[in-house]
Amino acid sequence: MPKTHRVTLIEGDGIGPEICAEMLKVVASAGVRIDFERAYAGQIALEKFKESIPAATLASIKRNRVAIKGPVTTPIGTGFTSINVMLRKKLELYANVRPVRSYPGVSTYPNVDLVIMRENTEDLYSGIEHEIAPGVVESIKVITRLASTRIAEYAFSYAKKHGRKKVTAIHKANIMKLSDGLFLECARGIAKKFPKIEYTEMIVDNACMQLVTRPTQFDVLLLENLYGDIVSDLCAGLVGGLGLVPGGNIGKKYAVFESVHGSAPDIAGKGIANPTAIILTLALMLEYLGETQASLAVQQAVSKVLQAKKVRTPDLGGKNTCPEMGDAIAKQVKRLL
Ligand code: NAD
Repeated sequence: MPKTHRVTLIEGDGIGPEICAEMLKVVASAGVRIDFERAYAGQIALEKFKESIPAATLASIKRNRVAIKGPVTTPIGTGFTSINVMLRKKLELYANVRPVRSYPGVSTYPNVDLVIMRENTEDLYSGIEHEIAPGVVESIKVITRLASTRIAEYAFSYAKKHGRKKVTAIHKANIMKLSDGLFLECARGIAKKFPKIEYTEMIVDNACMQLVTRPTQFDVLLLENLYGDIVSDLCAGLVGGLGLVPGGNIGKKYAVFESVHGSAPDIAGKGIANPTAIILTLALMLEYLGETQASLAVQQAVSKVLQAKKVRTPDLGGKNTCPEMGDAIAKQVKRLL
């Protein structure tokens, strides 16, 4: 009898519910047994429960240890703190893992195959901001030895486990000598424990230029929180856009899987969002749950559908809807298994 997994599902808002519906179709055709426990976060939760992350949502993730989540809108400038940032901190999901790869026919650059390893709990996302005098504000960038060491350790261990050859730490230690300097010092210390994996460093502005001109030189990118956030979207642009890049927030006890993209309010409710990123995010989650065969089938199904160029959402230059894309992938998964 196959195992039944229990997983918390947070659909989120914006395009979240539309893309999650397609992800659930793929779960059904992959034949894996997952009991989804629905939970809420963000504006929807605020209206229903008067809290942006209700205690029940946190309790559900803690009970199930694994969650998959659609995007959640964060008010700009005012309003509640990003629930994404809060969840990552509260659950100590310190590693944000984002594999970025080219797909034939849709990606601007062929042969990109890199993994972003973003520190997920500190840096300028510590949320420490204050006005020190009228018209003068400070945002504090927090970098600690503990968090920098554990993300470096995670990046090198991941590289070893997945047969990756190189880790590149990306920084601005020429300017932020103490904070980014500490991040590099920790990365160098961990690099010494993994002599078979090449270790290089690159200043973040140069790294952005190199990513655009010669992306195939990169393998695993090790970054602080803010650089990781920005470079993730840049890398998504290299391979066909945000509709294609999955992600996982991983900690020692819990894991919350979510795509790189946000709630895309400009296309929400129009039925044209690309569900591929959340479907690839599902593949990452299946791998984490030990459902290797199903995970591989989902990844292969996505490749096949993209390569066939028959069904494509508008972000990929096509005219198909979100459900049509989801159906095509789900059908392909069934054929492969
Ligand atoms: P976004 O990622 O939502 O959208 C950027 C652009 O990419 C938009 O043009 C959008 O239409 C397009 N896009 C994104 N995902 C797509 C998909 N699956 N298919 C087709 N097109 C897609 O970024 P934004 O507009 O800067 O942010 C919107 C909101 O999302 C903000 O409130 C932000 O805070 C939030 N956000 C949430 C998360 C998360 O929940 N993990 C991540 C990033 C941003």
